[in-house]
Amino acid sequence: MVILFGTHPKYIEHDTGSLHPESPERLTAVRRGIDISSIKDEIEIFEPQPATIEEISRVHDVSYLDALRRFCLMGGGTLDPDTTASIGSWEAMLLAAGAGLDAARRMRAGKADAAFLAVRPPGHHAVRDRAMGFCLANNIAVLAADLVAQGEKVLIFDFDAHHGNGTQEMFFDSASVLYVSSHQYPLYPGTGRAREVGIGSGTGYTLNLPFPADTTGPTFREALDRMVAPVVEAFLPTWTLISAGFDSHRRDPLTEMGLTSADFSDLTLWVRQMAPSAKVVAFLEGGYDFAALEHSTASTLAALAGVSLKPEPNSDGPINFEMIKAMEESRKRALSD
Ligand SMILES: [Zn+2]
Repeated sequence: MVILFGTHPKYIEHDTGSLHPESPERLTAVRRGIDISSIKDEIEIFEPQPATIEEISRVHDVSYLDALRRFCLMGGGTLDPDTTASIGSWEAMLLAAGAGLDAARRMRAGKADAAFLAVRPPGHHAVRDRAMGFCLANNIAVLAADLVAQGEKVLIFDFDAHHGNGTQEMFFDSASVLYVSSHQYPLYPGTGRAREVGIGSGTGYTLNLPFPADTTGPTFREALDRMVAPVVEAFLPTWTLISAGFDSHRRDPLTEMGLTSADFSDLTLWVRQMAPSAKVVAFLEGGYDFAALEHSTASTLAALAGVSLKPEPNSDGPINFEMIKAMEESRKRALSD
């Protein structure tokens, strides 16, 4: 089996300033994950090609991209209270947005079975006309839109601790993209309630699992089996894209989720076995504890190759049946409205 690992030296030139949690050093930790992944020999590292403006403009306004390019080339600065850009951010963004397209081309040519993309800046908060939450362009959405244009059915599984508001919004009315997000709620950006289920022909194709702080693996897996499995089985995705946000790790300094790197292995194996013939591409989103990033990258890479690797034990705790039932009911009500 060949697992692609896409990363680029220019990703570190997206300079967020010395105190920002979304630091270039994150990628060093992610790279260390390869060494302990147990599938090192199956990993093929590549440097992605940049996306074109045309490719990115499937999900972003050209006027936003023009303004962002000018802002970066003038030296950058602060885009919102959380999000900064530097002179190197424009090229880093093009290369991050292009990573999925490049990986998919290689996979379609039969060169690999799955891919992990260690990109910066991350993408899932970026909306059509603005940067948001450390994200400049929505990398995973750029690939999803390209695949949909080719007639594919795309499952996006987003296990970042934050809700991927940008991705949800871009495909809210689409029946070709099934967006499934597990996240801490309430938490930034404030969206991702169970009653957000899509709109128009996209109704039912957005599935949110808003978990309270400290939720652990057993509750995750119960919610996935009960609420997500039947929807994915009916959807029959041809591609599975993962927003791999490792800030759901219990050691993450920005969030309060209760998972470990072993749980990310289980989540990745779970989604892989839900659609065994779908091609799988994972994108790095958040994750701000370096050891957690290293271990979680290793366990996710191994899972992409079908191997269960647990650098640390699974999280444990009672299954919160009441909460899952409340989420289910809220979703059902929204679907029948
Ligand atoms: Zn996050």
